[in-house]
Amino acid sequence: DTQFTQITAAVTRSKGAPFTIEKAQIRAPKADEVLVKIVATGMCHTDMIVRDQYYPVPLPAILGHEGSGVVEAVGPLVKNIAVGDHVVLTYGYCSQCNSCHTGHESYCQEFYPRNFGGGDMEGKSAIQDAKGEPLHDHFFAQSSFSTYALSLESNTIKVSKKAPLELLGPLGCGIQTGAGAVINSLKVSPGSSFVTFGAGAVGLSAVLAAQVAGATTIIAVDVVPSRLELAKELGATHVINSKEENAVERVKEITGNGAKFALESTGIPAVLRQGIDALGSLGTIGVVGAPALGTDASFDVNDLLLNGKSIRGVVEGDSTTKIFIPQLVELYLQGRFAFDKLVKFYAFEDINQAAEDSEKGITLKPIIRIS
Ligand code: NAD
Ligand code: ZN
Repeated sequence: DTQFTQITAAVTRSKGAPFTIEKAQIRAPKADEVLVKIVATGMCHTDMIVRDQYYPVPLPAILGHEGSGVVEAVGPLVKNIAVGDHVVLTYGYCSQCNSCHTGHESYCQEFYPRNFGGGDMEGKSAIQDAKGEPLHDHFFAQSSFSTYALSLESNTIKVSKKAPLELLGPLGCGIQTGAGAVINSLKVSPGSSFVTFGAGAVGLSAVLAAQVAGATTIIAVDVVPSRLELAKELGATHVINSKEENAVERVKEITGNGAKFALESTGIPAVLRQGIDALGSLGTIGVVGAPALGTDASFDVNDLLLNGKSIRGVVEGDSTTKIFIPQLVELYLQGRFAFDKLVKFYAFEDINQAAEDSEKGITLKPIIRIS
């Protein structure tokens, strides 16, 4: 007989609906699964776009994909994670395809079903609501808007007990996306210029990482003055309010010719165009902002080819998670990656307030305290 643990979870019942806090139950871990008592979970723009069904994850579902917590139980095949370990949960991947074999897990051939499928790889859910009906789960191989979550050993990252566990969840998605885009994908080099279009949680993590990488010109473009202020505090050498100024012209002025490296983190096609236009010769733009599936964008073909520009899609900062997330924790502990300045904590019952504050731009990176 399968054993169940009683849980409290924030459920998304229908498209765009507020989260409802409900009692439910989750089954025990099997095989290589890990049951994690969630301490806190970040909330990311991707939770909102799935709540609003830009990505058609089946509902009702438990979202949440930046969980951190303590290992409560492990399945019989789990080798390197033990009860009591502090862990950060990240996205799911298969470990078996060519991308995974070469350390590029975020391009796993099973990325979509493992993270957005709404169940395990057989389509089954591990959670039942109070009426015994299944709730879609396994969102990003975790569903962390819940007091307990089931992950796999592969996406469960053991972290140092010296770091404050309740802060670390966003390293599993939004923060590693911005930081990894700069360090792993673009490979921003010492002395170079870097511009982020969008100074949200992802863009500002990129600003922090650009300093770690040694960029000497770091530009943040946004339309919200408070975000630009924070960007300066976090180390941007220049900020541009693109509502008031022509961002492309300003970037060219500041850098001389155009930026060597850029990041698009707004998900707006017109802003992607600005980013491509703002590159100098042989410049590269990383694209992380996610519009609705099927969205087109445009660029000037001759500008791209004559200047040798590159456009590069980036998932989850190209992070090899078992290596990169502990590195970010170490940089934080050394005072070189102050992502805590992006964060505001909320109680679990205030999860809808957190979503609203995030969407209004009042809060950059909400973290929901779960237990
Ligand atoms: P966010 O909402 O905090 O940040 C977006 C920022 O863009 C905001 O500061 C907003 O003011 C700014 N913005 C809006 N319109 C603008 C404009 N016209 N010009 C300049 N700036 C503008 O969101 P986030 O959490 O930082 O996430 C950013 C994007 O990255 C989202 O689309 C999210 O879904 C996506 N994302 C992608 C991945 C990935 O792996 N590719 C991972 C996490 C998040
Ligand atoms: Zn995310």
